[in-house]
Amino acid sequence: MTERRVALVTGGSRGIGRAVAVRLAQAGHDIGFCSRSADEAALETARLVAEEGAAVHHVVCDVTDQEAVAAFVTEVEEKLGAPYAVVNSAGVLKDRPMALMSALDWHTVVGTSLDGAFHTTRAVVRGLITRRAGAIVNVSSVIGVYGNPGQTNYATAKAGLNGLTRALAKEVAPYGVRVNAVAPGFIETDMLDGMPPKAREAALGKVAMGRFGSAGSVAELVAFLLSDAADYITGQVVQIDGGIAL
Ligand code: NAP
Repeated sequence: MTERRVALVTGGSRGIGRAVAVRLAQAGHDIGFCSRSADEAALETARLVAEEGAAVHHVVCDVTDQEAVAAFVTEVEEKLGAPYAVVNSAGVLKDRPMALMSALDWHTVVGTSLDGAFHTTRAVVRGLITRRAGAIVNVSSVIGVYGNPGQTNYATAKAGLNGLTRALAKEVAPYGVRVNAVAPGFIETDMLDGMPPKAREAALGKVAMGRFGSAGSVAELVAFLLSDAADYITGQVVQIDGGIAL
């Protein structure tokens, strides 16, 4: 890549979002990222990105709030320039059996992954179409493909994200814009911290490679899908899961 490109990353303060921000900085992107909190984690991502020689701008933004997302996108455009790449990585878990699930737990999870991706993508996609250039990667999950007990909200959000990916890919392909999703299995991030040891053991038993993945491995795949090396790949949901059977 010769000229620098601007990438937007939601949920970039920790985990997969941070690894993606740093990897894209290494690949020659300037990085605008958001998270709900202005915490040490966000500062650390900004530091790591800057260390790669990239310009970086962090905005506190809850992706469930469409006005906040519009402001995030505008601010990044003003500071860094028009985006080329978008990575929708913000996501949360609120696991509970359906019989016990509150409407709040449902809406928080669906709102973060699915509405969040809609808000961010809608704020950006018109510009990508106009410029006839750009690529989007949605961070989905194998749970959106296979389902999992206790995760109807999360499975719905991620299955929805897969549908959004395939439909939008067809919509914008004529304008030279690509849209893909990655569907990770179990990845070592804060998100897995709350997993009880027994559930962890059971989860490991389902992974053919016998280990959980790293955020760095997911970031490699995201960077590839956003790069010109993937210029004929669109509308795909690519699993990265160590060979999982759920
Ligand atoms: P993580 O370490 O918990 O990080 C989540 C990130 O999302 C944080 O930066 C967090 O910022 C941000 N975030 C959460 N809610 C937000 C909101 N409403 N608005 C803006 N930012 C928000 O999680 P992760 O494991 O990296 O997960 C990243 C993505 O990968 C998620 O979409 C997740 O569903 C998906 N995924 C993860 C795994 C896994 O095993 N880890 C597997 C499959 C898919 P704050 O701290 O400020 O809230």
